[in-house]
Amino acid sequence: MEHRTRRLRAALAETDLPGLLVGAPVNRRYLSGFTASYGWLLITRTNAFVLTDSRYLIQAGREAPGFAARQIINPGKTLPELVLELCQEFGLDRLAFEAGHTTVADHGRLAAGLGDAVALEPTEGLVEELRMVKDEAEIAVMRRAIAITDGVMEAVVPQLRPEHTERQAVWLFEQALRKAGAEGPSFPIIVAAGSNAALPHHRPGDDLLGEGQTIIIDMGAHIDGYNADLTRTVVLGQPDERFWAIYNTVLEAEQRAIAEVRPGVRAHEVDAIARDLITAAGHGNHFGHGTGHGIGMNLHEAPFLRWTTPGGTSIPLETGMISSVEPGIYIEGWGGVRIEDLVLVTDDGCVILSQAVKLSG
Ligand code: ZN
Ligand code: ZN
Repeated sequence: MEHRTRRLRAALAETDLPGLLVGAPVNRRYLSGFTASYGWLLITRTNAFVLTDSRYLIQAGREAPGFAARQIINPGKTLPELVLELCQEFGLDRLAFEAGHTTVADHGRLAAGLGDAVALEPTEGLVEELRMVKDEAEIAVMRRAIAITDGVMEAVVPQLRPEHTERQAVWLFEQALRKAGAEGPSFPIIVAAGSNAALPHHRPGDDLLGEGQTIIIDMGAHIDGYNADLTRTVVLGQPDERFWAIYNTVLEAEQRAIAEVRPGVRAHEVDAIARDLITAAGHGNHFGHGTGHGIGMNLHEAPFLRWTTPGGTSIPLETGMISSVEPGIYIEGWGGVRIEDLVLVTDDGCVILSQAVKLSG
């Protein structure tokens, strides 16, 4: 895990920052391994601390051996007081903080506590940028989460019956995820039947799965801090011709977009492949979301495979990024189709990590 701190220090040096206070729990876990619900990291060019209270001091020692644990005591030695003490100990008169993850209240308290001694400097995306490219340990955890997810999709879909409600179906998936070793689902499982499938993120309810209608299932295993994400569209009974026409359009868009994924291709270019194909099939207005998103410790993280403003651009893909590719077509009153797989960018293209079977017809 030390290599992550090393990469962060390089990023700090590049932007001429002497140190960073890490407030986002996911970034804290990524850099240190420390999983508690309360704590901060203070990382300077030479030192690294976990700041937490008595509930988690022992845990910090175990989980984050590369970091020295310092105790926050409320009241007695509050976070601002501890940060000031450390800054003075190591001669810092400036300290960066994560603007996207620090509340206005926390910032106010820090600024008041540090006074004129230490200037707070907002930064955004420093750790997120490191997290975009997964290291070997992360890829291994992602593969485990994805394998569990694939297995659950393949095991539970054959158990679905027309008389099940969407919520009953969700419960089957959720139980199967936990039985297979997931800590839980990565996000509230989506099962959307019939016209409900026209809502990309439908909230499952008491509607029946029914026969001959489209059912979108979107779920993933959460394990060791990482998330999987998989969508399959299925039909109980016989799908009609309209379904197949739409399904095959989405499938082709997905496959062509995946074929475009390789280092150097920009995120919006992958989106355009899927979008142009769906638009050419007459469904441009029925595909409102991006084609994919990076995934890891957050379900949705950079890079985002979506369109840009006219003339705009997006970041190039790099070896080690993991992204979803998930085009869809949603038609009010009819339903929808979405197909989602996760891919790992490799030196010469990409590997499709998701292996769950798809409908074919
Ligand atoms: Zn999904
Ligand atoms: Zn997704």
